[in-house]
Amino acid sequence: MIKVAKFGGSSVADASQFKRVKDIVDSDAARRIVVISAAGKRSADDHKMTDLLYLCHAHLVYGVSCEPIFRDIEKRFCEIRDELGISLDIEKEFDDLWKKMDKDISVDYLVSRGEYFTSRLMAAYLGFHFLDAKDCIFSDYNGKFDEKKITEAIQKAMMQYGKIVIPGFYSSLPSGKIKLMSRGGSDITGALAAAACRADVYENWTDVSGILMADPRIVKNPRPIPKITYAELRELASMGASVLHEESILPVKENGIPLNIRNTNKPDHPGTVIVDKIEKEDASYKRFLTGVAGRKNFEILAIRKHNLDNNSDLRKVLEILEDHKIAIEHISLGLDSFSLVFAKSSVETIIYDVISEIQKVLKPDNISVQENISLVAAVGRKMTFRPGISGSIFNALGEAGVNIRTIAQGADELSIVVGVDNSQFDTTVRVLYESFAV
Ligand code: ASP
Repeated sequence: MIKVAKFGGSSVADASQFKRVKDIVDSDAARRIVVISAAGKRSADDHKMTDLLYLCHAHLVYGVSCEPIFRDIEKRFCEIRDELGISLDIEKEFDDLWKKMDKDISVDYLVSRGEYFTSRLMAAYLGFHFLDAKDCIFSDYNGKFDEKKITEAIQKAMMQYGKIVIPGFYSSLPSGKIKLMSRGGSDITGALAAAACRADVYENWTDVSGILMADPRIVKNPRPIPKITYAELRELASMGASVLHEESILPVKENGIPLNIRNTNKPDHPGTVIVDKIEKEDASYKRFLTGVAGRKNFEILAIRKHNLDNNSDLRKVLEILEDHKIAIEHISLGLDSFSLVFAKSSVETIIYDVISEIQKVLKPDNISVQENISLVAAVGRKMTFRPGISGSIFNALGEAGVNIRTIAQGADELSIVVGVDNSQFDTTVRVLYESFAV
């Protein structure tokens, strides 16, 4: 059995977190590939190593000395090393790096040193082989990964060394230069490594006990979701519930590898398991919602026209919106009217131009814009083909005095999205969570 364990920045923020990671890794011999982020924040007012490295680069670009920040970073690595009794000549490596620090240093190379040094320390501490991402994670200039080459390199290292640590967040370009992924990219490295060794599970260790059923800023102590499908997770993530880097899902999903989100600070908690399909549902868990998520500040553009031509009139409006790069969230179509929902941020400065273009092209009887709309998604695979679900949702919201402005449910019945006034956002999330999720 092979488990790939990726640890996020907060899990490796200092020596005491390194110890927790070692306990977790040592407790299961199947954890043979470990992927490491750069050391993160040790407290709320601390800084992530990645942010400090970006800051160093910005100083170089503007010709301002970054030495104090640079030496602070070095000091943090030395502290971890000394506290854990690891032998690694960080001072020498930082002196060498300092010699390369001028405005022409590649930002990707410099920032990747966060993951690089954190992983070097972790490999030495665990007694695992350090496999640099530049030697096993390959991508082209557009960021597309070469999965064949990655698989060969990782399998070869596994055969040779048995247990390895790989730094997350960066890859090697065909030129051999280092390329950073987007923020949170260590999740992707972990997923690629899991796919490469056909892991039995990809464990993503972080500082929460899995994906929560609702936003803890709105609902008090929401429960973590024990099991969720990739399709449900996509619905929740599109509504703002964020735990994983979106691109980390595909490599494991395609290879049928379950993804388990776990809490480094509560290693006994089972966390959330994400799978492609759930064959047998847990009978003790009767509620039909998997999770609730939502976002504020949308607008509804409502258009009324007698004898509306559904196809051509809608197409004309969609073309105008596409020209202005406005992403549509929902469309609802009636006999002589239709309405479109989009984020306020995407139309803020252009809404009047858009309306006047629509007026010119469509000559509608009326156009109106309704502002301050929130979209809230009730997501649950158990809603599928179950009569009465939408009725009970609308009933519960009605009883709580929530006025529903728009409704959308896809034919797969995986989610029901309601549009409500921003002022009723929190109530909507709470009512859905309390009535149907727990
Ligand atoms: N250290 C990087 C970041 O802060 C990548 C990662 O943690 O996944 O975004």
